[in-house]
Amino acid sequence: MSDDAEPSLDGEPIPTDEARREDGEETHNAFWADAVADRVLERDPSEPIVVKGGISPSGVPHLGNVNEIMRGYFVAEALRDRGYDVRQVFTTDDRDPLRKLPRTLADLDGNLVDFGDVDAAALGKNMGHSYTDVPDPFGCCESYGAHFSTLIAESAELLDVPLEVVSTTELYESGRMDDVVEHVLANQDRARTVLAEYQDKIDEDYVPFNPICANCGKITETVTSVDLADGEGETTIEYRCTDMEAGNRTIDGCGHEGVAGVREGKLPWRFEWPAQWQVLGVDFEPFGKDHAEGSWPSGKDIAENVLDIDPPEPMVYEWFTLDDEPFSSSDGNVILVHDVLRMVEPEVLRYFFTKEPRRARDFSVERLDLLVDEFDRFERLYFGETAGEDDETAFADAAYPATIRPTVAATFADRLARNAESLRDGGEADQDAPWLSIARDPAGREAVEDLIETFAGRIRLPYTYAAVLGMYESESARIADAEKQDHVPAEAAEWARECAFGRVALASEWATRTENEYDYTVQRASMPEADFDRATAAALAELATFVEAGHDGEEIQGEIFEIARRHDVDVGDFFSAGYRLLFDEDQGPQLGPFIAKLDRDFVVRRLRQEA
Ligand SMILES: [Zn+2]
Ligand SMILES: [Zn+2]
Repeated sequence: MSDDAEPSLDGEPIPTDEARREDGEETHNAFWADAVADRVLERDPSEPIVVKGGISPSGVPHLGNVNEIMRGYFVAEALRDRGYDVRQVFTTDDRDPLRKLPRTLADLDGNLVDFGDVDAAALGKNMGHSYTDVPDPFGCCESYGAHFSTLIAESAELLDVPLEVVSTTELYESGRMDDVVEHVLANQDRARTVLAEYQDKIDEDYVPFNPICANCGKITETVTSVDLADGEGETTIEYRCTDMEAGNRTIDGCGHEGVAGVREGKLPWRFEWPAQWQVLGVDFEPFGKDHAEGSWPSGKDIAENVLDIDPPEPMVYEWFTLDDEPFSSSDGNVILVHDVLRMVEPEVLRYFFTKEPRRARDFSVERLDLLVDEFDRFERLYFGETAGEDDETAFADAAYPATIRPTVAATFADRLARNAESLRDGGEADQDAPWLSIARDPAGREAVEDLIETFAGRIRLPYTYAAVLGMYESESARIADAEKQDHVPAEAAEWARECAFGRVALASEWATRTENEYDYTVQRASMPEADFDRATAAALAELATFVEAGHDGEEIQGEIFEIARRHDVDVGDFFSAGYRLLFDEDQGPQLGPFIAKLDRDFVVRRLRQEA
């Protein structure tokens, strides 16, 4: 898909912002979320405005799935910035039946677990059952569905997104879906006519309801008759438990014939989605391109012509890849928010999702340093510390506040708590997750907004430099190096120092995980044992003199080859000598650029084997 093409939605393509500009509409927004907020407001929504997302709980709730949560967050924030109250809800479609065994799962700490290492037999026995009726393979939650919902809720919480996770099973069981289910069943002819335009095999026997078999617990697809309440008694659905096709296998039905009520089953997905819009009052929902070509056109039609409601404002987003491969639970090519946040600050990950949603892009763990560098520049542009192109600066001005507010709230949690009287309900600024408690509170938002200016005093160590500091074996060596190289002034505020040095552990984790050039430990405290011949020792001394004179990484790298040649030392042996002195190992990162990042006095003394 090209950058500005949108999938055709029910024959009515959503105009891109480019097209809108050409049409002369007033939509020039530097940040896509502001353009979407404009469209949502054109619908004149009532408050609270509801932003939704959703997911079926198969496999692992990975970073690709979080795309939808973050897109929703930035639109919710754009609307809150204009003074509107916004709820962000996320449905886990956990009344769906388990149709396929996932190959990879995740425990509640976000660690990936192979299917073979959990209680797989229990899962196998529960094929065809709703996710909320399947036991939790880890045994820690009420069900498989609840386990998945917990992981999604945690992912949002880790990114400080105020999200209400809604279980679809709970929507049915609480009775909130009663009216819409009865409406669909009372208007089956319309429902069939509309659906038949999108799906094959919709004949007069098709009933848009899948009861749960009272005998075996499976979701069934064969309804034999419907008895509508018509204001008296309860609507009942008679069914026969028949086989279900699930991909290339069949899940056997038990043959039971029974009667279900409207809470004892579910609407098929194409009806369930618009039913959720009605029940939750949804004004805006982003979705991936799979839905754009599939259930969105039918959902919109069903909303308008079966439920008689307005569908929400849509937004299609492009999927992204993970290190150039599609996300895949079955191939193990997944990463959870939990894991990403062991390597970067939450604001860096939030920043990733400020980028244009319609453009395909890659999330690279290997080159996470580039993402962090980009974020740092985005932040400097916002604070006016770097000059950029007009559109870059306009984008930073528009997108940075929503990206950084949770961080600012967490950094200054104590100050917010002191201002608590000014906040709603006498102040609910939770010390652990202050942003979650005040994001919807106008006074709280204002307090955080003011603190963004204070946050201009933050200190960011360049990510690869933080990785270098992570190679020192002691905290004091790190601090000494960072202060000596003027990255962190000795008089810096405590919170700013924490901001700076907090990155060291993150970058170290990245180095360890990717086994990259920073995955070594510098032996700074004491010199490793080494015994070099005279030629090598002389070459090292000459290198020390060259480094002492002050040269950049490339120059040092080139000189290493020259020095080795002049002293008739094998160049591989010469590099090894350097690695021995620095890491007590035979190999290491590209030596010249690496040495250039270290405290120069230390390097010079070490090469002279003085300390
Ligand atoms: Zn669990
Ligand atoms: Zn059955």
